[in-house]
Amino acid sequence: MHYLSTRGGIAPIGFTDAVMMGLASDGGLLVPAEIPQIDAPTLREWSALRFQDLALEIMMPFIGNEIPRHELQILIERAYSGFIHSEITPIIDAGDLKILELFHGPTAAFKDIALQFLGNLFEYLLARNGGQLNIIGATSGDTGSAAIDGVRGKAGIQIFILHPKGRVSRIQERQMTTVLDANVHNIAVRGTFDDAQNIVKALFNDLPFKSAYQLGAVNSINWARILAQTVYYFYAWGRMTGGDTTQKISFAVPTGNFGDVFAGYLAKRMGLPIDHLIIATNRNDILTRFVNTGIYAIGDTVHQTLSPAMDIQIASNFERYLYFLHNGDTAKVRALLNDLQTTGQLTVDAEHHAQTCIDFNAMAASDTETLAQIQAIEAASGYILCPHTAVGVHAAQGQINCICLATAHPAKFNDAVQNAIGREAPLPPSLQGIMEKESRCIELAATVEEVKAYLKETLSSMMHE
Ligand SMILES: *Cc1c(COP(=O)(O)O)cnc(C)c1O
Repeated sequence: MHYLSTRGGIAPIGFTDAVMMGLASDGGLLVPAEIPQIDAPTLREWSALRFQDLALEIMMPFIGNEIPRHELQILIERAYSGFIHSEITPIIDAGDLKILELFHGPTAAFKDIALQFLGNLFEYLLARNGGQLNIIGATSGDTGSAAIDGVRGKAGIQIFILHPKGRVSRIQERQMTTVLDANVHNIAVRGTFDDAQNIVKALFNDLPFKSAYQLGAVNSINWARILAQTVYYFYAWGRMTGGDTTQKISFAVPTGNFGDVFAGYLAKRMGLPIDHLIIATNRNDILTRFVNTGIYAIGDTVHQTLSPAMDIQIASNFERYLYFLHNGDTAKVRALLNDLQTTGQLTVDAEHHAQTCIDFNAMAASDTETLAQIQAIEAASGYILCPHTAVGVHAAQGQINCICLATAHPAKFNDAVQNAIGREAPLPPSLQGIMEKESRCIELAATVEEVKAYLKETLSSMMHE
């Protein structure tokens, strides 16, 4: 399988290069040259597979002969060995609701599904092809801990995660700083998340520095992350229908960066019988507005909500959808992105907007509606939703044969849970005792110079070991 850029500016590359490149060198996102089509007999067969075996079948056509099948199988088994549920992503009944729980990985949020795989994949590719990867990222919460856990102890990889000191939740901070592996470097910067993010951007824009120190990112634009997330759509469909390809299922998907719901779109394009894909957003509703109007318009500010992992203004995977919506017309994608950059908005034409309305439904939930949803579901069934999941459940109203994706364990967001139902959700095993564990973190001023100096010093000392 070959990979191309959504902006048309690179020669086709293979899967390995696409994974290591992350972002295409022309600034676009990498996409497969074609989408494998899965026929009905195959879907029927796959519906009986366990999660890991299904993952192997789904990934193989996207990887081709670049990774031998039995080696990919080992990577996949290893990636999901730390999940505490034997089904990896079980479907749970909460009264009338069907909940697809995606939070049984080491950090109790759905990002583990992609990042546990990506960490193992990076390690494998680095060992095979040689080289070193120094991951640097800024986090306001979930991504940092999932990324750290994905690569902890992995050969050939160092990870540096910046978080704004005192501005991530206590649990999230502890989830990052109690990982004591030598290749994990937590940096608390004295500033805001935007400061941390801007420092990381500045380091990546410093091209000589970036290449001298082999900096890489683990943000949600890596194709391997999308691929890993596609698996649970197939898995859930199989569990719900028993492989009856005349049955369609809808999915309600809490979304920020358009990563999770794009994986569902890919599954649908591969032939999975999906009825509605419901984009669920919080007050940061650029995607919901787009589906309803065909206009993708950046708002004036990011609003803080009870579902912070979705407090995002620009959805980084959206460009991939624009590409497929326009049948791979990269000139059109470039023109639309140019509009977005120069005017703060882009508009798809009526014909393409009609297609978007077929591809997606969308609904936004306010914080009040989010809390009401947590409260109502708990009252009706005793099941406790995390606030992100509650946004999805809100958007699923009135749907039939719909599965709601649960993206985090509620105990990670106990302030909101307490607020909604007057008590906290019990901690999952991975979070128990976390407040008492030993931790390691260094504190720096929120300046590019300080962070750069720290990176240089740490990485030089390792290179000389
Ligand atoms: C990251 C995250 C989301 C949003 O996922 P996208 O890939 O940005 O669509 C939703 N819920 C939780 C708990 C998350 O951590």
